[in-house]
Amino acid sequence: MQNLFQIRKEMCDVGYRIWHRGYCAGNEGNHSVRIAEDRVMCTPTGVSKGFLTPDQITVVDMDGKQIDTQNKMKRTSEVLLHLQIYKARPDVKAVVHSHPPHATAFAMANIPIPEGIHPEAEVFLGKVPMAKYTTPSYKELGESVVALIKADTNTVMMGNHGSVCFDPTLIGAYYKLEILDAYCRILLLTRQLGKINTLSQQEMIDLLKVKERFGMPDRRLACAPGGCIGADNQPFLATFDTHPKSACACRSDGLVEAAEASAMSEDALEAMVQQMTDQIMAGLK
Ligand SMILES: [Zn+2]
Repeated sequence: MQNLFQIRKEMCDVGYRIWHRGYCAGNEGNHSVRIAEDRVMCTPTGVSKGFLTPDQITVVDMDGKQIDTQNKMKRTSEVLLHLQIYKARPDVKAVVHSHPPHATAFAMANIPIPEGIHPEAEVFLGKVPMAKYTTPSYKELGESVVALIKADTNTVMMGNHGSVCFDPTLIGAYYKLEILDAYCRILLLTRQLGKINTLSQQEMIDLLKVKERFGMPDRRLACAPGGCIGADNQPFLATFDTHPKSACACRSDGLVEAAEASAMSEDALEAMVQQMTDQIMAGLK
């Protein structure tokens, strides 16, 4: 039998970390723990995750109806998203929804989280799908997320919104959030350096085999030899800048050919675009 007060306390501790790390501003975000087959404890609406107290945690049934009617706090309006995840994945016992800034930047730009780059992210997050934007608190939000959840999914991005991480434990779900935002922060810093190295197909196969040996099977191991890893990386890779000197019709001394630049034929323009694309791709190798 779980100690329910301990769970409430742990939800407050995790809330404090979420707020302190800047994953949620103001009253944003929510998290929950499944305490029985038809009961879920969730954070209340309108309270900063940094100032939660155990008595404020609310209890709902699997339809989202608040059970603890004596509680002055009302359950979060986004609990419907959590409940749909619990229904889709019986192994999930905790859900954390946040707006981590570095990861959410990708959701704002509608750029999928790239894969095949960072071993830590590959092992602990795996493939992170991106759901289309839907209005927060609408049941369509949960539907769009659940549609993307496979047996090995533990994190989903929500377009123009944020992230949702889930796990058999609350701490585990919180760690996913930390790893997600750290990974996205590293990606954005790497972008500033102008180039990025992606793991080779064989390196990814080896990594996913190690992951499987850790007891975390990843469905991509089956399709990796066919090249499924990195299939959605292009929108991120395309954000890398090219050196201005190599991205225009330049003379060897770096000065732009004025005449070419002002009256470029369509053929020349197409050739230039192709040249730029080749240079970008060469720079990414
Ligand atoms: Zn939200």
